Amino acid sequence: MSAFERYAVQRIVDQAADAGVTIPPELNAFLECGGGSYAARAWADAHPGEYGLGCCWGEVHGGPAHCICWKPIYEQEQQAPRPPAGPQDLAAQPRMCGDCAFRKDSPERADEWSESALLELAAEGTPFWCHEGMRRPVRWEHPDGRTVEGSPDDWQPPMVAGVPYRLDGSPGLLCAGWVARASRAATASEGAR
Ligand SMILES: [Zn+2]
Repeated sequence: MSAFERYAVQRIVDQAADAGVTIPPELNAFLECGGGSYAARAWADAHPGEYGLGCCWGEVHGGPAHCICWKPIYEQEQQAPRPPAGPQDLAAQPRMCGDCAFRKDSPERADEWSESALLELAAEGTPFWCHEGMRRPVRWEHPDGRTVEGSPDDWQPPMVAGVPYRLDGSPGLLCAGWVARASRAATASEGAR
């Protein structure tokens, strides 16, 4: 699961929790370990047809691609998150990164579903974060000894109240591509009034 997918799922879970829905502890465990899914999926893809040992709830119900036992291993040191005083203390990236999700040729816009989810975030004003300065696992380890190399796109920042934190403990920067679109959307809706 990419950070963006996890974000989208976490958002739905948070909305459900706010609405008073009890979130099963397995689901929280699943999200906390990043879905385990990057490593679980990578391992499952590399070993088609191999079925596991029933190590966990995810594995038993969904096969090796859904195993939640994989743990991320970081080489970078993560400082404890220092939450901002308020939304006014959140900063934006000054310009779009070379691999910004909002660029036309980005992987996030490669298929219609994720493109519309991405553009909807901007239209709704739901924050989307730049990955700069965030941690990424070098590899993932399964308790039974299997390992999977980390992915270059698998950002796993600590999250507090929906905000991701950089390695130095400061809040993530809002994505420049998102800011440009979100402000255009806000101007358009002002104009429509
Ligand atoms: Zn498992």
